[in-house]
Amino acid sequence: MKIICIGRNYADHAKELNNEVPTKPVIFMKPKSALLLPGKPFYYPEFTDNIHYECELVVKICKNGKYIREKFAHKYYDAVSLGIDFTARDLQEELKSKGLPWELAKAFDGSAAVGEFIPITPDTNLNDLQFELRKNGERVQAGDTKNMIYTVNEIIEFVSQYISVNIGDLIFTGTPAGVGPITVYDKLDGYLGGEHLLHVDIR
Ligand code: MG
Repeated sequence: MKIICIGRNYADHAKELNNEVPTKPVIFMKPKSALLLPGKPFYYPEFTDNIHYECELVVKICKNGKYIREKFAHKYYDAVSLGIDFTARDLQEELKSKGLPWELAKAFDGSAAVGEFIPITPDTNLNDLQFELRKNGERVQAGDTKNMIYTVNEIIEFVSQYISVNIGDLIFTGTPAGVGPITVYDKLDGYLGGEHLLHVDIR
């Protein structure tokens, strides 16, 4: 499996990091070794002093495909959760300033935390889901998927022109404003539509 991530998919977050709002989706990948399964602690890595949380809606691919049209994209995923795109912001700033790829800042072990997945039903409107992240019980991010610049279906259409999607792949759909640092002993909790799906202890 692979983890496909979208950057700068909420205008308010692009602004907070002084990035331009993109005219095409910004894509990067995390390998399978980045996956942090539900309930597992995140161990703060030694190569950075500035890990940020980025809480994101995550969809799970249930069907193999390539060149998927937007209008058929909904057939390619069947479950949704919240995830944390852990980012070594200091490394990312250094790599960005040199025009280099972001992998070391984004794709390290444990950098793709996910919560429990819940099935998508005919009633689920992926374009109108509210979610929030709490750090040590205090709300730090609140998102609504209606503010995504690219919808899940548009992302799948775009990505699958270049990269096939396969059963079990995950798509991290980008983070709203409010990203910030974590420290050891923090607790992160993610709620999707009020449902507690994600918990990560920082060690
Ligand atoms: Mg992100």
